[in-house]
Formats: sequence, structure tokens, C-alpha cells
Amino acid sequence: MPAPLRRCAGCGRRAPQRELLRFAARDGVLVTGRTEPGRGAYTCRSLACFERASARGMFPRILRQQVRIGLELRHLYTDAASGAGEAVAAQRKDLGATHG
Ligand SMILES: [Zn+2]
Repeated sequence: MPAPLRRCAGCGRRAPQRELLRFAARDGVLVTGRTEPGRGAYTCRSLACFERASARGMFPRILRQQVRIGLELRHLYTDAASGAGEAVAAQRKDLGATHG
């Protein structure tokens, strides 16, 4: 059985599902996770693809509902960048405080 292919919402590239990040809507908020129920949207593991998908409104289109796209999702892509670890940690702290 070939691996199921999914299409990146950013660049349109088709790739095996395991190579892509999956997103779903939970209570109107875009979240990432392979086990989230409902419709799923996918992007490459590239911030450029995520931002393009976001700018084009692809997530609400694919998920068929309005979703809030939190900036913290960007960290999915930037965590791996060398040298960015401390800045990301600081931003996360700030974000956490606003969620109250
Ligand atoms: Zn892509």
C-alpha cells in the first residue's frame, strides 16, 4: 500500500502525510496534531508554506470553518532554527500570559 498523499495548503506540493504537518480546528482555533478530530489541513514543514497558506485563507477554506490562527503556531517551524531557542522561549512566555 502506498502512503496516502496530502497536499500542502501553502505550495500545493503533494507529499506523504508523514512528511507534512497536520492542522485542524478545535473550538475555532487552529491547532496542530495528527489525532485532532475532524477535517485536516496540511503544510510542508516550512514556515513559508504555513504563512502562504495563512495569507491565502487556506485554513478556513480547507477546514470549512473560521479559525483563529495563533502566532504561536509559527514556533512549530522556528523551533529547529539554530540560535532562535531563547527568543522563542521568551515569546512563548508572553503568549501564555495572554491566554488567561
Ligand atoms: Zn508546501
